[in-house]
Amino acid sequence: MAIIKVQKGTKDILPSEMPVWHFMEEKANQVFSSYGAKEIRTPIFEATELFARGVGDTTDIVNKEMYTFEKSERSLTLRPENTAGVVRSFIENGMHRLSAPVKLWYKGPMFRYERPQAGRQRQFHQVGVEVFGIKQATADAEVILMAVNYLKALGLNDLSVELNSLGCPECRETFKTKLKAVIKPYLNELCPDCQARYEKNPLRLLDCKVEECKAIYAKPEIQAVIQSDFICEDCANHFNELKEYLDALGIKYEINKLLVRGLDYYNRTVFEIKSNNLGSQNAVCGGGRYDSLVRNLGGEDTPAIGFAMGMERLASLIGSKTEEKTKAFVVSGNMIEAVKLAEELRSKGISCEFDLTNKKFVKQLEKASKVAKYALILGEDELSTNQVTVKNLETSEQKTVKRENIELI
Ligand code: ATP
Ligand code: MG
Repeated sequence: MAIIKVQKGTKDILPSEMPVWHFMEEKANQVFSSYGAKEIRTPIFEATELFARGVGDTTDIVNKEMYTFEKSERSLTLRPENTAGVVRSFIENGMHRLSAPVKLWYKGPMFRYERPQAGRQRQFHQVGVEVFGIKQATADAEVILMAVNYLKALGLNDLSVELNSLGCPECRETFKTKLKAVIKPYLNELCPDCQARYEKNPLRLLDCKVEECKAIYAKPEIQAVIQSDFICEDCANHFNELKEYLDALGIKYEINKLLVRGLDYYNRTVFEIKSNNLGSQNAVCGGGRYDSLVRNLGGEDTPAIGFAMGMERLASLIGSKTEEKTKAFVVSGNMIEAVKLAEELRSKGISCEFDLTNKKFVKQLEKASKVAKYALILGEDELSTNQVTVKNLETSEQKTVKRENIELI
């Protein structure tokens, strides 16, 4: 019979890979908790409208990449990212009444219908942070610090932080007008996506990955507009404050004026962290400030900033970690005594297995050496004296001890 395979763009995370995933998850808990952030888990599907309004209907994510389906005449979507869900929950649970800042972190699977390639899947995982209620640049600095320190805790180096300010809706409007004017003569030469973006979301033109478009945007008269300091005084002060904090904290960054980020709701600070050790999909973290999103989704006016990281990309940078062996394996001709001893150890939190098929003693010992660190030998002699022979399977040292005195170091 034909076998059923895993779906294109999705992957099993196998037991051999689990140590790396547990490591990423434990470090996230440790590092984000150390900043006072609390974990939140929101549903994997939400009303489609949440993403249309929350991510923005001019984005690729909403236009091309959503897994949308109908149930009971409701349009539902598998979450393509978690910020919209966290904001929905923040509003629904009245979290604006908590004392600011409200710091939340999450981890879990996201779904985007994209062209699968190295570093790009249709089901992938993100770990992320959202900080609500602080408009000052201190929150921007803290969020970037959380991202950088998390990556450090994973042992990842050779990363670069890219930073930009998109200004506020007011100063951005002037910039958009100037940008459109200087790009207009080339409109027919742009890719179809850029032609659509030109009217709907001109900032996203800068994000285009098509070589022909990139060459056009590299023209001196267009670069002059892109590189200009268009942001207003308040936005510039905010950005300068952030840079001062980062400088004082010794966090290196580069300003990248082309950094506009994929989502519609960002204002002021946007940032990305890239690895120099990944191929073309080299962004491990993307984030930014989204001061109008809570209000746009029907909540109280609440400034916010956050980031998301791609866990598969982090995992590929971390490399492999060895699987933990089971601590002990009971070797015995007496199945009942074997299971009793195994249960005694498990109840003390020590992992323990025994041979479920009652094979010969030598076979059991062979199996023990493959999967465990210690063999606990329960032969006739041991059983009659209520003792156990503990054999270290790495050094072959062994000694016989009272059953209640088993020590596995
Ligand atoms: P890209 O430009 O690579 O498409 P993005 O702007 O769509 O990224 P975000 O929505 O900001 O990405 O997501 C944050 C992070 O999640 C990315 O930096 C990346 O590490 C990871 N990520 C995004 N999409 C995918 C995917 N399809 N497969 C694996 N990881 C992804
Ligand atoms: Mg994308």
